[in-house]
Amino acid sequence: MAINGIYAGSFDPITNGHLDIIHRALKIFDTVYVSVIDNIEKDPLFSMDERINLISNSIQSDRIIVEGFQGLLVDYARKKNIFNLIRGLRAVSDFEYEFQMSLTNRSQDPRIDTVFLMTEQSYSYLSSSIVRQLAKLNGNISDYVSDYVRIKLKEKFNGSKRIT
Ligand code: ADP
Repeated sequence: MAINGIYAGSFDPITNGHLDIIHRALKIFDTVYVSVIDNIEKDPLFSMDERINLISNSIQSDRIIVEGFQGLLVDYARKKNIFNLIRGLRAVSDFEYEFQMSLTNRSQDPRIDTVFLMTEQSYSYLSSSIVRQLAKLNGNISDYVSDYVRIKLKEKFNGSKRIT
C-alpha cells in the first residue's frame, strides 16, 4: 500500500527551505501532496493560482501533487484519506506553534499524525515573509528561492515600483 503525506502551507512564495522539506519527505512517502492553504485571514502577495504555479515550476516529480484547498486541513485530509501531515521545523521557536497545531489537528481527528522534518541548517532562518521583504527592497534572494520564483517576485514588485 502506498504511504502518502500532505505538506500544507501558505507557500507565499515557496522557498528553498520548503523545497528542502519536500525533498526529504519524498524519501519517506510515496506521494507528497503539496497543498496550498487558501487562508482568508492572510492577505497573500501571490494568488492561489500563482502560488500553485510557482511550486509546480520550482520542483517536478511524478510523486508530487500540487493543489489548493479551502477550509480545515483535517477536512481536506479526510477527503483525501491521508492522515500523515508533514511540517518543517526551523528552530526551537517553531516548536510551540507546531506542537499546538499538531495536537489541535489530532483533537479534530485522532487518525492524524504529524511528521516533523528538520530543515537544512542554512535555511533555518528562512521564511516566505523574509523573502518577500528582501524582494520588495530589491535585495539578493538568489540563495533563497528558485530562479523561477525570483523572476516572478521581481515582476510582482517592478509592477508597482520601478527600479532598474
Ligand atoms: P504557514 O502559513 O502554515 O506557516 P508556510 O508556507 O510558512 O505556512 O510553511 C509551511 C511549512 O513549512 C511549515 O511547517 C513551516 O515550518 C515550514 N517551513 C517554512 N520555511 C521553512 C524553512 N526555511 N525550512 C524548513 N521548513 C520551513
